[in-house]
Amino acid sequence: MNDSAAETTTSPVWQRMLAEAVRDPTALLDALDLDRELLPAAQSAAQLFPLRVPWPYLNRMRRQDPHDPLLRQILPLGAEHHDAPGYEADPVGDGDALQSGGVIHKYHGRALLVATGACAINCRYCFRRHFPYTEVNASTGDWSQALAYLANASSITEVILSGGDPLALTDRRLAALAPALARLSHLRRLRVHSRLPIVLPQRIDKALIDWLTGTRLRPIMVVHANHPAELDAAVAEAMARLQRAGVVTLNQAVLLRGVNDDAATQAALNERLFDIGVHPYYLHVLDPVRGASHFEVSSQEAAAIQRGVSATLPGYMVPRLVREVAGEPAKRWLHW
Ligand SMILES: *Cc1c(COP(=O)(O)O)cnc(C)c1O
Ligand code: SF4
Repeated sequence: MNDSAAETTTSPVWQRMLAEAVRDPTALLDALDLDRELLPAAQSAAQLFPLRVPWPYLNRMRRQDPHDPLLRQILPLGAEHHDAPGYEADPVGDGDALQSGGVIHKYHGRALLVATGACAINCRYCFRRHFPYTEVNASTGDWSQALAYLANASSITEVILSGGDPLALTDRRLAALAPALARLSHLRRLRVHSRLPIVLPQRIDKALIDWLTGTRLRPIMVVHANHPAELDAAVAEAMARLQRAGVVTLNQAVLLRGVNDDAATQAALNERLFDIGVHPYYLHVLDPVRGASHFEVSSQEAAAIQRGVSATLPGYMVPRLVREVAGEPAKRWLHW
């Protein structure tokens, strides 16, 4: 059997790894040798939003440490049942902005396409944890409605594939999308917002890179890492593959209590990102989504952290501290 025959009969490595992601709280606690006392709360909060974590990410966590900053991002906790004032199901107004075919057109020149509701990992603080994905029909692999919207909006120069996580879709689902976008002459850039390169870097394989760089559209990959311990050698290699292919690589992070809420961690994150060729783009304050209030860092504290980072690093390594405010024409820069 030659290589190309093997290629067509086997699913890509990343897809098998995605299928093997841990979804059972007991399996998670056992894998990390954690106290079973955490189990009832984890099981009950997983009813609100399922647990999901791929092994390559899980393997970067410290064993026997319930405070590990990577674990904190995915471990369902009893605190998620807490109904804090101001914390809502749709904190950024996506429901109101959603157009046909899963397009969210909030900002001038850019439109976001909710390509799928699926993710490789379920982050407990995710602002889309209550998003009504079943109403979004681009996830069926039929892009026609989204393309029709984009074809009629000639002010749009950049399409952002988002989700969920667009790279959770198979190459087959994605295949037709990039060429169809490239045929819309007013589009110039194709941006992908994905956490896959961080949590499952095997996703950045040759087929994906060929797809991303195979049209006239300028490709941009915005990844999502929150802590330097997320950026291991496999992630660095995935980033290098993207960069060698000419893809601009940026990072957005979320400021999270108990994960990265101090200037030293932020500085280490940004310096590590830069080491692997990724430019820090945004540091988001938490969107007030129901069930995530225990991750909150106050604006005053966020500003103090940003001051600390700015006093340590070159300006190009300091991401913009932003908040998304429903109805505003851009992410709001927070002053410090
Ligand atoms: C964040 C966001 C964008 C991208 O904003 P940039 O400032 O260009 O990164 C575009 N559309 C929507 C709906 C967004 O939420
Ligand atoms: S990968 Fe992104 S969209 Fe998916 S759960 Fe995490 S934060 Fe939310």
